[in-house]
Amino acid sequence: MREFAFALAQFFICESPDQSNRSACQVCQNCRLFIAGSHPDFHAVTSEFETVHGRIALLTAYSDRYQDAKEREKKSRPSRVISVDQVRKLISRFSTHTHIASTRVALIMPADRLNTNAANALLKLLEEPPDQSILILATSETVRLPKTILSRCVLFSLAAPNRQQSLHWLEDFIPDEFRITALDLSNNEPLNARAMYEAGQLEDRQSYLKGLISTLENKIYPLDLAQKVAKMEFDNVLLWFAQFVIELVVWKAAGQRPSWGNLGSVDPAVLSMDRLCALYDRITHYRKISRGSVNEQLAMEDLLISLQKVTERHGMVQNAKQ
Ligand SMILES: [Zn+2]
Repeated sequence: MREFAFALAQFFICESPDQSNRSACQVCQNCRLFIAGSHPDFHAVTSEFETVHGRIALLTAYSDRYQDAKEREKKSRPSRVISVDQVRKLISRFSTHTHIASTRVALIMPADRLNTNAANALLKLLEEPPDQSILILATSETVRLPKTILSRCVLFSLAAPNRQQSLHWLEDFIPDEFRITALDLSNNEPLNARAMYEAGQLEDRQSYLKGLISTLENKIYPLDLAQKVAKMEFDNVLLWFAQFVIELVVWKAAGQRPSWGNLGSVDPAVLSMDRLCALYDRITHYRKISRGSVNEQLAMEDLLISLQKVTERHGMVQNAKQ
């Protein structure tokens, strides 16, 4: 997705694109400046995290126009959010004439990282873009974009590689024993699977799953687990939680045992389908608003307490007390 977004941006900037295979010429002045990371009419707006971990060299060259590189380097946890100040800067640069190219292009990526204020500020530009302007919003999670933004964009979906192709590509990066799990955990996105493995997140996930099972079994206090996972990346934890709940739903509805193995004493017969679905909705809610505007620990406590209540057994105890 990232590589494609850059290639698309270059295609729009190029003076004489090859229309037959829809690619930039690579040799015109615009292409050369673009590739050198210094084209004045191309704008890349991204989060600090994406600049550090995005694995695209050009991204750093361009995103520094919208970030304070010195501040970013001081941080142990670079921001994952695209701020309203970045969007305001883009709007002001889009209000002047183009410098060299006939078209100016902005790439906002990952677009799901726009915080609420930034998304609202961007709406005006999407509604009334200046002439000769192209805005590319790239994301692998359209579900996390506000509807107001989505409704003002033309949507193109990129086909994901199939599972076999992904596993084959990952052979160079992930050892056999972790490959399938990494791909499963990344929603079948091979680049994310590789990043996840390289960042050591498989271990975090393993310990989190154990915590979720213990929570279901009433062997651990939700608040203790929430505190323990506070150091992990909140978005990852939410994704793992959502996948955990989906597997419980499938187990309850179709009898298929979850993939995470050791289930302790959890019995699908005591799980409440209604409460599982309500919990899943709640996780989705936090995934949508997690762009810097949520108290992560309180949200996790809320979700874990709800998890403890998904057993009918818990409901009966509650009812008996009433
Ligand atoms: Zn060109």
